Amino acid sequence: MKILVINAGSSSLKYQLFNMDNNTVIAKGLADRIGLETSSLTHNYGEELKTKYVLNTQFKDHTEAIQQVLAALVDKDHGVISDISDISAVGHRVLHGGDKFTASCIIDEACKETIKACIPLGPLHNPANLAGIKACEAVMPNAPQVAVFDTAFHQTMPAEAFMYGIPMEYYKKYAIRRYGFHGTSHRFVSGRAIEVLKANNMKHGKIIVCHLGNGSSLSAVVDGKCVDTSMGLTPLEGVLMGTRSGSLDPAVVECIANNEELDVTKTVNILNKKSGLLGVSGVSSDMRDVNTAADAGNENAKLALDMWAYGIRKYIGSYAAAMGGLDAVIFTAGIGENDGPGRAKVCKGLEFLGIEIDEEANRARGKEVCISKPGSKVPVWVIPTNEELAIAMDTLELTKGK
Ligand code: ADP
Repeated sequence: MKILVINAGSSSLKYQLFNMDNNTVIAKGLADRIGLETSSLTHNYGEELKTKYVLNTQFKDHTEAIQQVLAALVDKDHGVISDISDISAVGHRVLHGGDKFTASCIIDEACKETIKACIPLGPLHNPANLAGIKACEAVMPNAPQVAVFDTAFHQTMPAEAFMYGIPMEYYKKYAIRRYGFHGTSHRFVSGRAIEVLKANNMKHGKIIVCHLGNGSSLSAVVDGKCVDTSMGLTPLEGVLMGTRSGSLDPAVVECIANNEELDVTKTVNILNKKSGLLGVSGVSSDMRDVNTAADAGNENAKLALDMWAYGIRKYIGSYAAAMGGLDAVIFTAGIGENDGPGRAKVCKGLEFLGIEIDEEANRARGKEVCISKPGSKVPVWVIPTNEELAIAMDTLELTKGK
């Protein structure tokens, strides 16, 4: 059974085609610069997806982009399936489900209306996600479609965790509250963590998942349910990220806006795009570059790394307090899976919680492994995330037999 996973942005569309008989990706790619004069499709297939086919053409809109994606998938030279009808269903990553979606769902008119109603909460992503859905409906009318929301896993948070201390009318009028993001990753990774901990006869009731990538977020998971998460109304809140500042005194916005004579939107844009590792180090938003600069003695890069680790450590401490205990810490995503020194830096000082990192085990990169010492009261694991596979699995589950 083949399932196509789509992640549609405003001018790009990423895809992966899964063979669900063995949960492997048989082709993936990117349709880029949709709606611009020169668009391109990059399609990867073959052994380890190393064969690349690039098509420079023009996609007027998402529908044309999907048409080209499907043409590439069935192409006689570069394709991986013989007919479009081999694709049993399509799973879409959708950014914002507001408080309306607590799980993935089959896309129907009501679902699309609700995604539309959530546009004020996800103004950049939801319209693009809808465009991707409509494009697939137009081109593959017989394949059932599923929406998988970045926010859904966090809908189990209690009000004390998701409400902001602002006048209640703003929650009622504008639905301003914490939603959290990366939910598909937090669900996938915490679910796998629980399996792994169980299999090792370890406690698994109170877990912290640290999804540390370009965008980063933490979640506190009790008995498999999210009770708190670091991102908020938007992905700007929480820990320091590649280009996002993470949490700060909201009055900083006013101060920058006044001094730089900027409006609020432009100021928040600086917090989203020019801050974080990039803004503090002045070097790059990419952790590898910041590490290299710090190793070479760049003081601002060193400070950025210290701030990054300190902020995450504080969240781990606060979530342990929020859950009234801690059974395991899990690292995932680009930095969490690959940056051993970064993980060690985050955990340094958490020995009082029972966290002891094993230097040797912590050299591991990109694989599922326990990185704490055998005697560590709280085990620490690296568990690679796979959001696309999680979307494909939900899609399979919801469309089975349809
Ligand atoms: P996104 O949020 O875009 O999905 P990823 O989860 O792919 O991001 O993470 C990207 C981040 O992972 C980048 O900052 C990159 O530098 C970092 N990263 C990847 N490999 C390593 C590594 N070996 N050491 C440190 N950081 C790494």
